[in-house]
Amino acid sequence: MILSTRRCARVLQLTLAVIKPDAVAHPLILEALHQKILENNFVIVRKKDLIWRRSDSERFYAEHEGRFFYQRLVEFMASGPMRAYVLAREDAITRWRELMGPTKVYRARYTSPSTIRAQYGLTDTRNTTHGSDSEESAQREIAFFFPEFSIDQWLEKEEPCLRVGH
Ligand code: GDP
Ligand code: MG
Repeated sequence: MILSTRRCARVLQLTLAVIKPDAVAHPLILEALHQKILENNFVIVRKKDLIWRRSDSERFYAEHEGRFFYQRLVEFMASGPMRAYVLAREDAITRWRELMGPTKVYRARYTSPSTIRAQYGLTDTRNTTHGSDSEESAQREIAFFFPEFSIDQWLEKEEPCLRVGH
C-alpha cells in the first residue's frame, strides 16, 4: 500500500520494536532505550507495557520452533513485563535493527560495540530488544502486539505520509 508521497515531505515507515524482559527489569536501561528511540528521530505511534503468556510467546516465535534455543526463548519472553512500540521513521525497520545490532550478544560486542545488544544484552537469548525484519513481518507483528491498532485508520486520520508495504 502506498499513499501519495508527492504531497509529503517525508516518507515514513512503521516498525515494531520491543524491549524484552531482561531490559525492562532495569529501569535505567529501559529509560536509556526509550531515550535512544527519541534521539534517533522515531515517532512513537503507540506504546504498551505487557506480559505474555507462554502461549503468546510460542505463537509469536513459531518460525523458530524446533531450534535449539526455542524453549529458552519462549520461556524468557513470558518471564516478565515487556514494552512494545509502534515506531515510525524513514527506513524505520532497517534503522531500528541497525541500532539493535547483531542477534548474538557476543558477536555484537565484538563487531558493533556501540549497539544496544552489545551494550545491554546479557546472553544470546536475553538480548534486550526485538525489531521487525521486513515490512511483511512489521505488519504481522504490529497486529500481534496491537490488535486494536488499525494501520489504515492511522494512515487516513493521523499520518498521510506513511509507507507500510510496496
Ligand atoms: P532477531 O530477529 O535478531 O531477534 O533474531 P531471530 O529472529 O533469529 O531470533 C529471535 C530471538 O531468538 C533472538 O532475538 C534471540 O532472543 C533468540 N535467538 C536467536 N538465535 C539464537 C541463538 O543462536 N542462541 C540463543 N540462545 N538464542 C537465540
Ligand atoms: Mg527475527
